Amino acid sequence: MSMIPTTTTNPLIVAKFGGTSVADYAAMCRSANIVITNPHTKIVLISACSGVTNLLVALANGISDITLRQQHLQQLTDTHQQILNQLQHPHTVSDAIYALFDDITSASAQAAIASSPQLTDKLVSHGELLSTYLFNQILVEMNAAAIRFDIRDVMRTDTQFGKAIPQPDLIRQLAQQHLLPQLVSHIVVSQGFIGRDSQGNTTTLGRGGSDYSAALIAEAVDATTLEIWTDVPGMYTTDPRITAAAKPIKEISFSEASEMANFGAKILHPSTLVPAVRQQIPVFVGSSIAPQQGGTWIRKTVEQAPLFRALALRGNQTLVTLTSLNMFQAYGFLAEVFRILAEHKISVDLITTSEVSVSLTLDQTDTGGGAPTLPLAAVEQLNQLCRVDIEQGLSLVALIGNHMSDSKGSAKHIFGALDAYNLRLICYGASPHNLCFLVNEADAKSVITTLHQQLLE
Ligand code: ADP
Ligand code: ASP
Ligand code: MG
Repeated sequence: MSMIPTTTTNPLIVAKFGGTSVADYAAMCRSANIVITNPHTKIVLISACSGVTNLLVALANGISDITLRQQHLQQLTDTHQQILNQLQHPHTVSDAIYALFDDITSASAQAAIASSPQLTDKLVSHGELLSTYLFNQILVEMNAAAIRFDIRDVMRTDTQFGKAIPQPDLIRQLAQQHLLPQLVSHIVVSQGFIGRDSQGNTTTLGRGGSDYSAALIAEAVDATTLEIWTDVPGMYTTDPRITAAAKPIKEISFSEASEMANFGAKILHPSTLVPAVRQQIPVFVGSSIAPQQGGTWIRKTVEQAPLFRALALRGNQTLVTLTSLNMFQAYGFLAEVFRILAEHKISVDLITTSEVSVSLTLDQTDTGGGAPTLPLAAVEQLNQLCRVDIEQGLSLVALIGNHMSDSKGSAKHIFGALDAYNLRLICYGASPHNLCFLVNEADAKSVITTLHQQLLE
């Protein structure tokens, strides 16, 4: 018997396909081809078909106008019916799909009377429940040994509906118990975005959360690679929708990519890289429309660490400025401000201070991209302490790079390019990987284009 220890681990790929990659029958077939081309792809997590979660959110908010509600329901059924019609054996899944349509119709009527976060999560989870029936059937019709799996049996979360916190230890335990045995003979097709709390309620991880789901599952099964398939061939130097000059990045470090995701590069949900970093799982981002174009590898160590790497933009910022003369040479003021914010469960994103004032932006993670608001009760409490000014119509620009804060002259280079703009709340130096500031929403895209031209082209 050989005493040489085996060090090779079998490759195990978790692949995630976003909404546009499963938007219709053709998109699903393209994505299914990517799955079957690589025999190491054993777990596939998918989003709802493009546009479906938005429709479900609108229904969950409560549409009392019956005609309007009906229009939403019709649009939703049409999207899925069109895929169903193109299957070779639609009857294999049609009963399950129609049962989900019925659930959606009754939950939407219920939401029109009284909406609730719990009902919302139950309702919006139907997008992923539907898309997985169809995608799995497409794989089966391509002769793949695919099996549809309910991720809620594994994705254990707490009970914060709409922004549930996953519980990695339990997820690992449940995955080893229920998911791993399936991989011996199957490709598992399952849902991103959704989970279940300990009482059996359906929860969701927040908008765009399928990326995070896939990373959590990759961590739980000790995957060797996580693939994020989307509508662009990788991470770019900035959102290619903002400027055509944006260039794809071949390789980027976990730290830089995390900053990009955090600062609004929609391509990855902000939490995606947390499990990948914990388990050191390399992440590949590519386009399901053009897989041959390659994509971006996100890894712990990379060959190049350029001073300026990328620009990210996040709209709908809420800037709160708190001013009090009592703050001057006093202690405890900031502690009191943060106590009040914490009492109202308000999470702060960026912060700068002067002698008599503090400016901060409100965390936007739970607003689905909308501008966060400061609850009236919190404003009233803060007003007893200081003057409160709230401004909106602002965007956050983030420059991501390496060693920026300890590289001489880089600030001059950056700000010199932006003479024509009014910059607010500049945050620089806390992280070696980013510099960020606010600008008026109307200037945001030209600020990105100008900076991109000066620093990245
Ligand atoms: P999916 O539905 O596949 O999850 P998303 O729409 O959430 O896809 O994310 C992909 C989009 O992210 C792209 O179409 C692109 O417009 C946007 N995006 C923002 N920043 C970047 C960036 N730096 N690189 C590439 N894409 C980006
Ligand atoms: N379907 C969900 C959403 O649209 C989750 C996701 O696509 O990542 O937010
Ligand atoms: Mg996404």
